[in-house]
Amino acid sequence: MFSGSIAINDGSIVEIGTDQSLPDATETIDATGKLVLPGVVDPHVHVADHVSIDSYQTATSAAALGGVTTFIDFAWQPYVGPESPWDQPGTLQENAQTKRTNAEEALIDVGLHGGILSEREEIFDEMPELVSNGITTFKLYTAYEFGLSNGFIHRVLEHIAALDAVALGHTEDNTTCESLTAELRKKGRTDPSWYPHARPDYAEATAAETLARYAREVGAKYYGIHTTCEKALEVIEHYQDDGSLIRGETCTHYTTLTQDLYDEKGQLPVIAPPLRTASDADALFDALQRETISVVSTDHVAQTRETKTKGNWWDGPFGANSLQLSLPVFHDEAVNTRGFSYPFLVRVMCTNPAQTFGLPQKGTLEPGTDADIVIFDPDESWTVQPSENESKADYSIYEGREVTGSVTTTLVRGNVVAENGEIVGAPGDGQFIERDLPDWSV
Ligand SMILES: [Zn+2]
Repeated sequence: MFSGSIAINDGSIVEIGTDQSLPDATETIDATGKLVLPGVVDPHVHVADHVSIDSYQTATSAAALGGVTTFIDFAWQPYVGPESPWDQPGTLQENAQTKRTNAEEALIDVGLHGGILSEREEIFDEMPELVSNGITTFKLYTAYEFGLSNGFIHRVLEHIAALDAVALGHTEDNTTCESLTAELRKKGRTDPSWYPHARPDYAEATAAETLARYAREVGAKYYGIHTTCEKALEVIEHYQDDGSLIRGETCTHYTTLTQDLYDEKGQLPVIAPPLRTASDADALFDALQRETISVVSTDHVAQTRETKTKGNWWDGPFGANSLQLSLPVFHDEAVNTRGFSYPFLVRVMCTNPAQTFGLPQKGTLEPGTDADIVIFDPDESWTVQPSENESKADYSIYEGREVTGSVTTTLVRGNVVAENGEIVGAPGDGQFIERDLPDWSV
């Protein structure tokens, strides 16, 4: 960290220096006494689909207030099933087009991963075109009705390796989670504190083991999403030992909350995988420090309080919103409580996600890159109140939490989009980013 000034021209950072050394400006922003950080890059969010009720406008507004200047959502391969929103199978490309059209109302920059939800061969014909359209990463599930069999996962990974793309895995062993859930239902264990028992850490580690092993065998780049626990971290670390291209993330909530929250907040924090123990949270910080995993994302999902609390914990839906809170809440835990450095914070929330997902213009304040900047007040204390949500979600799993540190100003490519808790940008200020094939050799 050092004190200085930044010159911006035409959406890019042109120089870092002192007031005296920089060219004259037509407009200046005074950040005296505050921190100037690269905008947060959140590579795991859900917007405007069957998973999440947010529109691109509401999700990117929440992001702007939270200091997030780029996020990556998912374009889905339409599939047919009892819980599917589609009544016929379709192409991933057509859903990508829909999302790109929706993204025209974004206030921040957005990208898309491809989500492979069925075992239809056509996806292999689609993948090269998707990659050339900037969708260079593909998500696979081992759980839910759209989870893939190990055999098909193996084939997808071979195609990903051939394309030099990246596989993202949601890893929970499906039949284990299904059978434990059925057992708890049968016993009438309706209290939400039972929920973590339905999707245990070893079910996560078992599926992570399969994906990491297959990725190594076929030489595919693999990124384990929302890693929650020590057991899954051990798997990731094991498969990195020989230099295999295995990376991973955790999410803000797994580092800042524990499963006790199900006693306190009932079904609101029902997410998959579930919140874990305090020692798992410690292990996640340790793994971020050692770079066994390298990214903190949100897995943002917008649902209403009413939907989240309807029925029993097994009735769903999964997910929690946190685009607006991720930076201040993670900063408070990592820097204020645990004593991690600001360079650490910037690495896991900005630089590493940009580098991992083919966004060379993002996640850094290097001259020549996009002027995506957060001015952050590290001293302001406040209490999380869901009434301030820009997301369509009307609750927060952090509600009532006291936080020190807040986002003052967010710039996307030099435009101020949020300032002092207000949105000042407009739909269309953001752009769709066609991402490069990620280079993991560096
Ligand atoms: Zn997700």
